[in-house]
Amino acid sequence: MNKTRCPWCGKLVDKQADARRYAKEYVLTVIFRRGRIFNHHGVCAHCGNAYSNTINTAIKLSLYIASVVLIFSGFSLGIWILIAIGLALFIFSLLYFLFATRFRRIYGDNGFTIENDKNLFVRMRVIDQYYELRRGEILLLFKDHDAHEPFSRVSPISVSKLDEKAGILEGYWLYHHCDNAYFASLDRVHLYDDEGNVVADITFKEKIQNG
Ligand SMILES: [Zn+2]
Repeated sequence: MNKTRCPWCGKLVDKQADARRYAKEYVLTVIFRRGRIFNHHGVCAHCGNAYSNTINTAIKLSLYIASVVLIFSGFSLGIWILIAIGLALFIFSLLYFLFATRFRRIYGDNGFTIENDKNLFVRMRVIDQYYELRRGEILLLFKDHDAHEPFSRVSPISVSKLDEKAGILEGYWLYHHCDNAYFASLDRVHLYDDEGNVVADITFKEKIQNG
């Protein structure tokens, strides 16, 4: 799950510095929205947009309430299994919020997440795979993406779905760029991870000409 790259411009973020920037820019949001112990809010130093690993507040609250209810009723009725289930649910929720969330785009002042632009959806076929492909990751089409101005080069891709058996990868360009279409027309494109490794070679075409 992506917790290293800005979900807007795809550049590497400095989480601590970005969190400080968020706290400064959105003072009121920070004061009025407490209970964000496991959320990380940041403002990207490269493009100035806000992001967070926030998840649906309703889901989060229901999980917490359910575990508290289970634990308390377990104690009052003396049923240990209820306490055990409550604790397990609580620990599961904590781990989920810590590890299974990823950076998403948010409106800076209210923290609501912004979904991907449907027009930027892409479907890719995996030709060769060298490292593990993971849902939620942001992969680059240029190894030196970070050395350039935000939005100045072909857009990175955020992976939304993975079908390893069929060798199909689905995702979204992070932004519109005139070079996206050029890369989409190629027979073979490298996808790079944060360390500059080629994770996989893919094509956006359903079939490659001449085999
Ligand atoms: Zn950014």
